[in-house]
Amino acid sequence: MMDKYPRIFLKPGRDASLSRGHPWVFSGAVAGVEGQLEPGDIVVAVTHERQPLALGFYNPASDISFRLLTADPTVAVDHAFWRKRIREAISLREKVLPGGTTAYRLINAEGDWMPGLIVDRYADYLAISIETAGMERHREAVVKILAEEMQPLGIYERSEGRARQLESLDEHNGAVYGEHPPPAIEITEDHLCFKVDIVSGQKTGFFLDQRTNRNIVERLSDEANILNCFSYTGAFSVYCARGGARRVISVESSEAANEIARWNIEKNGFSSEQCPVVKADAFKYLRETKEIFDLIILDPPAFAKAKKDVTKAARGYKDINLQAARLLREGGLLATFSCSNYISEALFQKIVLGALRDAGKSARLLQTMGAGPDHPTNLGHPEGHYLTGLLLIVTT
Ligand code: SAH
Repeated sequence: MMDKYPRIFLKPGRDASLSRGHPWVFSGAVAGVEGQLEPGDIVVAVTHERQPLALGFYNPASDISFRLLTADPTVAVDHAFWRKRIREAISLREKVLPGGTTAYRLINAEGDWMPGLIVDRYADYLAISIETAGMERHREAVVKILAEEMQPLGIYERSEGRARQLESLDEHNGAVYGEHPPPAIEITEDHLCFKVDIVSGQKTGFFLDQRTNRNIVERLSDEANILNCFSYTGAFSVYCARGGARRVISVESSEAANEIARWNIEKNGFSSEQCPVVKADAFKYLRETKEIFDLIILDPPAFAKAKKDVTKAARGYKDINLQAARLLREGGLLATFSCSNYISEALFQKIVLGALRDAGKSARLLQTMGAGPDHPTNLGHPEGHYLTGLLLIVTT
């Protein structure tokens, strides 16, 4: 089957990163291609010496010319190939997920060797997002296999946003299999109940990547007075309440998210006195409140969505971390996150350190945090590792 797919030729020496496990080849590394190739074609990447290296999706319209599907250049990318990949992804989740959890990331794109395919499970529904021209061509096979393997009531597609633009793809939203999801799906995460709107919520409805970090924070909550900034639908707050928080204030600017947060808090048996939800700009709130906290959670949206935003984003991170440090009691805890692709863990640590220093505080790192094991990433693929968090104990 060696000659089944056309070849793309890499420049001399430009095969190194692929060999080291990075799943992308950038356009500058491609010397030429065989024949007339269309976005999303499957190709064999070969070295300058014509040695076949790997199979992947090709897209001449994107900066990322090649996305790795398999290091075996002799396989056929057919229905059986996708079924095997999807089954592998499902069985990994069966291994790594805690009990009482019906919402999680089922397929994490490159991290599951399916470049550009994101599938999240929300109880009886799946939310799917297709972000590459290559995956777009296999939409039908993937939807069919997911329906067979997972038996959901429905599959809803939310293919939108920047990643698709970079691949020159249009938006595509709507039910692609079975029933249209209801406006509110009730899911459980570690035995807690949450309402999720997969049609119009942020991301695909819930920040599944923070699951393990919510457990970390829960264990630090007993008797604590907690501030949860950028709280979305209050997931961190509900865990804090279960962990015994004296009080946990959720601060979020979206009233639609706040309404769901209030519902989540009540549904899990906690009161609005213990868990008040405040509609506010977190930057402003942090600056204006006079209260002192035992624990502060900062989980802002990605401030840097592109490389050019990094400096501005760094200022944003610095600002909220500086303000939070001022509001912590001596020995208080700060759980601070960045989900900006372009802010590395090292850079984030530097920014937070600078913020604390400017606040006249010092901090010790208790642990670093990232996405849970239902979000696998390739070790050689730093771009896949976007969520980074620091748990700090802050003193003067
Ligand atoms: N921690 C949440 C996810 C946070 S996502 C969870 O675990 O579910 C970031 C949130 O910040 C979004 O809900 C967004 O609406 C909100 N947001 C963005 N800018 C804000 C601002 N200036 N002040 C308050 N909230 C803001």
